[in-house]
This record gives sequence, C-alpha cells and structure tokens, in this order.
Amino acid sequence: MPFQFTDDMKLEPSPVQTSDPDLSSRAPVPVLYSYVRSTVATKSVVDPAKMTNLPARFTEQFTVMDSRIVETARSSDDTVKLLIKLADGEHVETVLIPAHGRNTICLSTQVGCAMGCQFCASTIGGLKRNMTTSEILQQILHIQQACDVKITNAVFMGMGEPLVNYDNVVRSIRAIIDPERFGISARKVTVSTLGIPDQIRRLARENLPITLAISLHAPNDTMRRELIPSAATVTLDAIIDAAEEFYESRKREVTLEYLLLDEVNDSTLCAEALANIANRLRCNVNLISYNPVESLPFAPPSQVKVKAFKANLEKHGINVHVRHSRGLDTAAACGQLRHRTAEISPEAEISPENEISPEAEIAPEDE
Ligand code: SF4
Repeated sequence: MPFQFTDDMKLEPSPVQTSDPDLSSRAPVPVLYSYVRSTVATKSVVDPAKMTNLPARFTEQFTVMDSRIVETARSSDDTVKLLIKLADGEHVETVLIPAHGRNTICLSTQVGCAMGCQFCASTIGGLKRNMTTSEILQQILHIQQACDVKITNAVFMGMGEPLVNYDNVVRSIRAIIDPERFGISARKVTVSTLGIPDQIRRLARENLPITLAISLHAPNDTMRRELIPSAATVTLDAIIDAAEEFYESRKREVTLEYLLLDEVNDSTLCAEALANIANRLRCNVNLISYNPVESLPFAPPSQVKVKAFKANLEKHGINVHVRHSRGLDTAAACGQLRHRTAEISPEAEISPENEISPEAEIAPEDE
C-alpha cells in the first residue's frame, strides 16, 4: 500500500487506490514511519530495498512512491518537465527550472483545475480531484531522482489552485520546510493563487514565512471575470484586502503575477490600473509573457510591448520583473504536456525512456 504524509509528519496509507500492477500493494509498517520519512526526504531514497540499515523483512513490506514518470521533456534551456502518472491513472505535470544556481520546482496540486482561466490548458477537462500530500511531495522526489539535482526553491504554481486543496498544500509546505525532511527554506517557497480571500487569511494564520503570489492577470473586475470566470464572485478589492492582511500578519511581501496577453490586457490603461493596485499593496509585479496553447485564442505580446508595459509600471514607482519564458519547446505552459498527451492517446502508456526532442529552438525572453 502506498503512503502519504499526514499533518503530524507521519506516513499513513494513501487514500488513492491503485490498479496499476507496477505499483505495489504492500502493507505499511508503522514502526518505521519516522525513519522512512527522513530517509526518503533527506536522501531521496525511495526504494525500500536501498534502505540498507533496515531488516529485509521490513523493507519487503512497504513502498513509498505510488506515482511514476511516464514522459520526460527536456528543453534546450535546461527546463525539464515530467508527466507523472498517479496510482489511479490520472496524470499531472511537474517542472524543474534550473537557473542562477537555484533548482526551482513548479508543483501541481490538483489533477486538472476548476478555475476555468480562459488562457490555460490545465482547466480543459475541468477538475478531476485534489492531489494527496504524498502525491504533491513525490513530485520533488521524482525531479531529484530523474534530474540528479537537489531542489532549492519550490513554487506552488503548477496545475490546480493550491488554496482549493488547502490541507494537502499546507501539509506539503510543512514537509518541504522541515529541516529533517526536504529542508528547503520557507523563504524559498511561494504559493501562487488566483485569490481566495478566506483561504489567504487562513494561510496567514499558519505561521509559515512563505511568499504569497496573487495571479491577478487583469487590472479590473470586468476584464478579470472574462478571463477567469470562476472569479465572478470575488472582487479585486476583496483579494487586495486579504493580501494586505497576509502582509500585515506575516510581514512577508506579496507579489502580483500578471500574464501578458496580446491586445487583451497589455494596454497603457491596464498598466496604470495595475500600478495602482501594486502601489496599494506596496508589492512587486512579475510580468509573464504568455506561453501559447495550441487550441486557445491568445498570443504573447511583442517584446516591444512587454518593455513598454514594464516601463509604464516603473514610471509609477513599481518594482517589476519580466519572468523569462522557459521551456517553450517542452510545452512548458501549465497543463500543456498533459493536455497534449490526453489529446494524442488518453490511455497510451509512454515508456519512461521516451524523451521528447525539442522541435523548435525558441530563445528565452529577455528583459
Ligand atoms: S491558471 Fe492556474 S488556476 Fe487558472 S485554470 Fe490554470 S491551473 Fe487553474
């Protein structure tokens, strides 16, 4: 039986049932939880047979991983995207972004997504289910093993809305920042949300010195409701109020994420409205140029427009970063690999060795 991490840092049997013959149906051994937990997280040893200071009669009885890599896509800029098959046959994506001595993992938290962002491939097909704590953490183990790296930074910015899967995300964060487990500094952990005011306030009370990123993507309610239908009942004012409370209680800066869509939200007026919000929150803005999705009617703005938008924000005293588009040749935008796999063959088994060759060399964006 596969395990999941519980709130009090123990491992327990996972609620996800497997019909996959390659995944084990062994029983857990409670006495070993603490040892297994730290061995798995700190040393990335996931194969019980390699936990050599445990008697074989124990290691033969349990397993840790109930997911496996079915596709690996490596980009020319070193970004790596894994398509991971979960025990119940669902797929999620995980991305490694190595840069400037940091190894950042972009974690998925749900299978699919219910938020309905019009520009996103992850929401096509809707939400299937929340990921368990164990499934979220296994993404780190898979990346560390497949890419032979130690993860230094974690962003909850992959498939799904993290604050909808609140309990599992918070449990995962506690495991990630626990020095006896993954040992990543809380300051290097970012939770990115579309903005669910009550859940932002709840997160503020968790005593976790993490960074909160609000995916704004539109500077007014009317445009936001068109781009993000699920945000229809949440006003920008309510999100900003909750973000201010998060800042006040945690003294951790909030970041605004803004996806630039050509001729949609990249006008001068949009820049000025966004600058007002950023000034109210006294926060930085990350501009992200859109990573096109084949079946969706959006395009990234030109470099000239991106620079002009950035300059407009800076004119209002905002600290702005343009996030480089990484892994354009690996279907790196949220949900694209999973979506493409589903389109090609929903049932297809792809061998772990089957790596995708980059089909197009597209230079990363520059500021
Ligand atoms: S952008 Fe994020 S919140 Fe929106 S649909 Fe995609 S995964 Fe969900």
